[in-house]
Parts: sequence; C-alpha cells; structure tokens
Amino acid sequence: MAKGLQKHRERLDALNRLGKDLARRASSKCELCEAAGVSLATWEVAPVPAEPEIEHCLKLCETCHTQLEHPKRIEPDHWRCLGKAVWSQVPAAQVTAVRMLRQLSEHYPWAAEIMEHAYLEPEIEAWVENG
Ligand SMILES: [Zn+2]
Repeated sequence: MAKGLQKHRERLDALNRLGKDLARRASSKCELCEAAGVSLATWEVAPVPAEPEIEHCLKLCETCHTQLEHPKRIEPDHWRCLGKAVWSQVPAAQVTAVRMLRQLSEHYPWAAEIMEHAYLEPEIEAWVENG
C-alpha cells in the first residue's frame, strides 16, 4: 500500500475511535447549525494535530461540511446559524464559526454584526488566528 494512503487510513481509524464520544457530545445534531436527523461527518479544525483529538473535531451535517470544504460553494444564508454557534461551549465550534463569520463579514453586514457582539476568550482568539 502506498505510504500516503496508509497514513490516510490510519487517520480515519483514529477518527473513528473518537466517533462515539463525539456523537455523544454532539447529541446527534450538527455542532454548527444544529440540524438533526441527518447524517453527520467528522470535520477536523485546523491546525490539525499529529494525532486526531476530540477537541479538534466537530460533527457536522453535510451542508456545513461541504461548504467548509469548498468555500466557493458557500450559501451565505445557511451560515446565519452561526449567530448561535459563536457562543458554543465547544471551542472547535466557536473557532470554526468565527473563521467563517470573518470571511462572510467582508460582504454581509449581518455577519459583521454577529462578530461585533461575540465575545472570544483569548485562547479562542489565538486558535482562530492559528489556522
Ligand atoms: Zn450543519
């Protein structure tokens, strides 16, 4: 097996091992938009650690997942959910929300407004910058 492929599989295995704990934390809802009753995929929040860590992972619905992966496909209105996610108790969700809001706020005043009211702990701010 090619080395890159093997690495990729090992990572997927490690992520799968986190699956149960992640699912419990997410209570079967997308950790950004709270979509329920949909299939959720694991998304790793940059900077990605050498070994997958639950603190760097989010359970996301396909809509959130796809648009994070393909910024050109962003549908701005979907991300109005971030008004809530920016206050998430899950740091990785907060970081992802802030990164997306910063991007959107260049064009959409509602995103800038959410950012204006958001409060970020210094370590969250540092993580946001370190992406
Ligand atoms: Zn979602």
